[in-house]
Parts: sequence; C-alpha cells; structure tokens
Amino acid sequence: MTEHLIPTADLHRWVVDIFLAAGSDEREAKLTADHLVGANLAGHDSHGVGMVPRYVSSWLADELQLNQHVDVEQDSGTMLTINGRRGMGQAVTHEAMDLAIARARQHGVCVMGLKNSHHLGRVGHWAEQAVAQGMVSVHFVNAVSFPVVAPHGGTQARIVTNPFTVGIPVPGREPILLDFATSALAMGKVRVAHNKQVKVPDNSLLDRHGQPTTDPGVIFPPAGTPRGALLPFAGHKGYALAMVCELLGAALTGGETTRPANTTMKHAIWNNMLAVVFDPQRMGTADMFGDEVNAFVDWVQSAPLREGFDDIMLPGEPEQRSRRARAERIPIDSGTLTQMDEAAAAVQQARGTSPGPLSVLEIR
Ligand code: NAD
Repeated sequence: MTEHLIPTADLHRWVVDIFLAAGSDEREAKLTADHLVGANLAGHDSHGVGMVPRYVSSWLADELQLNQHVDVEQDSGTMLTINGRRGMGQAVTHEAMDLAIARARQHGVCVMGLKNSHHLGRVGHWAEQAVAQGMVSVHFVNAVSFPVVAPHGGTQARIVTNPFTVGIPVPGREPILLDFATSALAMGKVRVAHNKQVKVPDNSLLDRHGQPTTDPGVIFPPAGTPRGALLPFAGHKGYALAMVCELLGAALTGGETTRPANTTMKHAIWNNMLAVVFDPQRMGTADMFGDEVNAFVDWVQSAPLREGFDDIMLPGEPEQRSRRARAERIPIDSGTLTQMDEAAAAVQQARGTSPGPLSVLEIR
C-alpha cells in the first residue's frame, strides 16, 4: 500500500479548513483538527484524519450536528450527567472533560457521564486532557455502531470494540497511558490488513460460520454476504471488560447501548462515556508516589528481554515515540487520501467552499 507524506502543520490546517467550510466555528474546527491529527501523531491512524470522510458523510446526512454545546442534565457536585447533543465529539467531549476536571479540582473527584456525543475518537486524548491538569482519569466507552465483536462463546458479532482508558500523571516523568480497544484488534487495524492483503494474528477473527480465521476479508465481505466477527482480546477477560464499558459507558450514562433498536444511523458513530476523574494530590501520597513509580518501573524493566524485543516499554511510550517520529510529516495511505479528496469535493458541493484536495499537499 503506497503511503503519502503530508506536512503535519499543513494537514492540521486542511482539517481546520474543511470543518470551517462545513460550518464549524473556529473553536470546533481547531479542537477537531487537534484531536484527529493528534491521533495520527500518536500512531493511531485508525482514529486520525482518516475519520474526516465519515464525519462529513454524517454531517451531510444531518446526523452529526455542528457547533453544539453540552447540556448538564444532572449535577450533584461530584457527579455530572452531560448530554453531548449529537455534537462533534472532539468539541463536546472537550467541554465535558473541562467540566469534570474543574469539579475534580474543587471536590477531589468527579464521576462524569457523557451521552450522545458524535465519535469522540482516540479516548487517550481525553485522559491526556485530564493528565495535563494533574488528574488521574479512567474511561469506559461504548460506540453505537454496527456490532463487530463476538461475545466470548458466541459465533456472531453482538458488541463493539469498547475502549477502556486510564491516564496517570507521574511527577518527573511522562504519564502512564493505557488506552485500547477491548477487541483483539482495533477495527481500523483489520481494515489496514485487508487493504494490504495480509493475514491478521491468530485468535483475532471468526468467519461468518463462527470458525477461527486469519483472513481480514471476512469483516469486509462482498455486499449481501454476512460478515464475520472480531474476537475480544484475552478471551473472556476482554469480553468481560467490554461488557463493563458498555454498561457503565452507555446504560448508566443514559446513552444508547449497541443493539439493533439503536443502530438506526446511516454514517454516524455515537459514543457514550463514563469518566472518573480525580486529583491524586488528595490521596496524601504525593511525597512517595513518584519515587515508588520510578522504583517499580526500574524493577519491571530489569526483566531480561525475550527474543525479538529491543526494550520493555511503559503504557503510553509507543505514542510518545510516534509523536517524535511524526512531528514534521504524517503518512497517509492512498485509499484514505482519495477518500479525503472526495470529502473536500462533497463539502465544496454542499457549501460552495472547501480547502480543496488534500493530495496537492503531499511532499513529492
Ligand atoms: P493498541 O492495541 O495499539 O494499544 C494501545 C495501548 O497499549 C496504549 O496504551 C499503548 O501505550 C499500549 N502499548 C502498546 N504497545 C505497548 C508495549 N509494547 N508496551 C507497553 N504498552 C504498550 O490500541 P488499539 O486497541 O488498537 O486502540 C487504538 C485506539 O482506538 C485507542 O486510542 C482507542 O481509544 C481507540 N478506540 C476508539 C473507539 C471509539 O469508539 N471512539 C473504539 C475503539 C478504539
């Protein structure tokens, strides 16, 4: 698969401009670009600028609503229930997290439920927003989209890739950031394998008959053929964590769970999220926390390396490395680049203005 290098700053400008052209205000367009380009910088292309065409389709179908602000529906001081009003996930989630962080600063902790957000992207971004303010942040997320993951023991998809995320600020070193889908592979990674026509690892997929397979094509069958399913990571453990994400992230927040009655959208991905944000300073352990983390990390990283491994990384470290590698330019695959050019053309047609094709910005 051919990759095209786009200067990072130009890519960011292009994403700002396409949402300004669609009608977002400056703040929303910038938050969206910060998030999507940030996901590419972090190495998670599945949640990066390649989502722009999907967002444009969702907006054109009148599903994604631009320039929304959140409604706080319940407020008991340390607990907030917030409605994202089908708004741009990157903007309404930023607003909801700001409210939760302010409450955590005031009271020590805030449990915040956000429902009805449009796709809120890379969940690690939201943990990073809290971590930047010195807060620990734990996130349980559902996605109201077509089921793609089989429950443990099942042969057909019933659940989604429900991400689980924890961000921990550590004095004197980079934060710890756990942020992953509860499926064995994220959906975007199966798509990449399919585009590259390579197999996926064992224990990742079932075919449409419920049989294990390494062929990613089972998730993208010809029209009219039933799809296979992704498997949860680590068998029953990933499935159990996905259930908790769905029930806390959606059922408890007042959002919709992922079942046929709720998956009526054409292009939107709706996300619901429960976030627990708290101020670690209030634990009264600040004096020893950093030292204890450093000592424990030293111990963990003293393990002899297995064959094929160069080092033992910490959660969050692959993203830090990717940011350094991609600071100046970001690779975009051909298929995604074409879709982005098409998205610009669609905005041009709908609104009479657009930033033009992204492909002209490629470094040649
Ligand atoms: P992944 O499998 O790449 O795992 C990423 C996590 O594992 C990070 O915390 C990373 O720091 C850590 N990690 C990776 N390699 C490591 C190593 N060698 N040592 C230590 N830690 C390591 O992630 P994924 O499951 O592909 O998910 C990708 C992204 O997709 C996430 O950002 C997630 O939030 C997002 N997502 C979003 C939705 C949604 O509906 N919005 C749904 C699913 C996933």
